[in-house]
Amino acid sequence: MKIAILGGGTAGFIAAAHMTRYFPQARLWHIYDSRIPTIGVGEGTTPRFPLWLNEVTGVGPDEIATRCGATVKLGSYYEGWGSRNADFVNRFQPPRLYGYHFDAGRVTGIIGDHVRATRLDARVTSLETLPGGVTVGFEDGSHLDCDYVLDARGFPPGAWTQAPEDPDIIRMDWIPTGRAMVRRLPPSAETSMSRSIARPHGWAFQIPLQEWTSCGYVFNPSLSSDEEVLEDFDAFLEDEGAEPTEIRVRVSFPNFMRRNWFDGRIFTIGNAASFVEPLEATAIGATIMQVRTAQRWMAEQDRQSPPDKDAVGFANQTMRSYVLRNSLFIAWHYACGSRWDTPFWDLAARSLERAGKHRYLKGHVQAMTDFLDVGRDLPGAKIGACTEQERWEREILPKLTKYVPFGNFSELNFAQVGHGIGYYDADKISAGGGVNG
Ligand SMILES: Cc1cc2nc3c(=O)[nH]c(=O)nc-3n(C[C@H](O)[C@H](O)[C@H](O)COP(=O)(O)OP(=O)(O)OC[C@H]3O[C@@H](n4cnc5c(N)ncnc54)[C@H](O)[C@@H]3O)c2cc1C
Repeated sequence: MKIAILGGGTAGFIAAAHMTRYFPQARLWHIYDSRIPTIGVGEGTTPRFPLWLNEVTGVGPDEIATRCGATVKLGSYYEGWGSRNADFVNRFQPPRLYGYHFDAGRVTGIIGDHVRATRLDARVTSLETLPGGVTVGFEDGSHLDCDYVLDARGFPPGAWTQAPEDPDIIRMDWIPTGRAMVRRLPPSAETSMSRSIARPHGWAFQIPLQEWTSCGYVFNPSLSSDEEVLEDFDAFLEDEGAEPTEIRVRVSFPNFMRRNWFDGRIFTIGNAASFVEPLEATAIGATIMQVRTAQRWMAEQDRQSPPDKDAVGFANQTMRSYVLRNSLFIAWHYACGSRWDTPFWDLAARSLERAGKHRYLKGHVQAMTDFLDVGRDLPGAKIGACTEQERWEREILPKLTKYVPFGNFSELNFAQVGHGIGYYDADKISAGGGVNG
């Protein structure tokens, strides 16, 4: 079997290591253009990443800490969100699970040690799916024929443009943010949680690594200028007692997904396939879902025959549902506003209402209503405070009723966020999931 992996960012390296591990007999090419930089952000993960990393490379917390400045992440800590004026935690469930905070620049080095592929430094200019495989075309006119391609070349140009309407791209206009500025601060004493702090123009994140804390301000560029955000960013750092530093990354991002992320031969992976703003750090987890699906597909399909259309449709629908549901859970965090009464929070508080108007989201909004209901009856603060697995099994596990996740999130995440933002304190909750009155 011949497989080409395109892209040298986090997603490309995850895909290349995964293919190395599961297809030791395959001929692999890892192709990326060193003239095109990686995005350089993406420093917090869900528990999917440590589980994947250990399974595929054998690397655990000690090695990633030493080589990548990583710290163990137990969840996210929210400050200033919602109507209750109280901080809250969304802890990974169950509490034995953990993610990492890591240096996005160094993590590809660790993963790269476990890639065995022919490395090509070249620009890919075309991909053509044929009945029996894929042809990868290069800038110099040469080409490579493969059975499968994993395409992790970062955000596709179509994810940015508003018109003409590209039927392959779903733009998630219900997500209220689209830009971030990122700085580096001195290391924090507390490293077990990513912090998400509500600010007038959006929210700030703090991702505590061993050698520094990565601090970003996420906002909506059509509501606030870079200058306004910078001013508040400085004010925030001053409140925190941290010296303002230079902006390290200033990055715009599209909230989008491809309607079809694969056609039976080409799998789009990572930011090439979808992105939902950084709240809850879902992107690397989605990448892992994609490479696992690709691996199963390649192992099970007869690669000499054209792909089964129904199976392709099903795989596309499953991934669509996963990403759209994550986007709804993220949009819901804004439902009760924050301590700031600003145009950003006014728009953000109506995120779910906007989502409910999209026809392809109707079923997912309906499914979410069940999770919202179940979350109401669960003790959100107690779940967030429970750090011991044994106690969790005794006191929290028996309260579960659904067992299935909504995207990446369970009823226990709904309970923590819902009670945390004060969603269940509101008098009336509309069918679309927004808060009335
Ligand atoms: C502000 C912000 C914060 C984020 N925080 C998180 C987080 O906490 N957790 C998380 O999971 N995710 C986060 N993300 C998402 C993060 O960007 C991705 O998880 C991750 O970096 C994957 O990027 P990538 O590998 O898909 O693409 P990129 O890093 O953009 O890599 C693209 C690669 O493709 C190559 N390439 C491009 N075009 C060509 C071509 N034509 N030919 C050959 N090679 C090509 C480039 O050289 C590069 O190597 C964040 C994103 C933003 C914007």
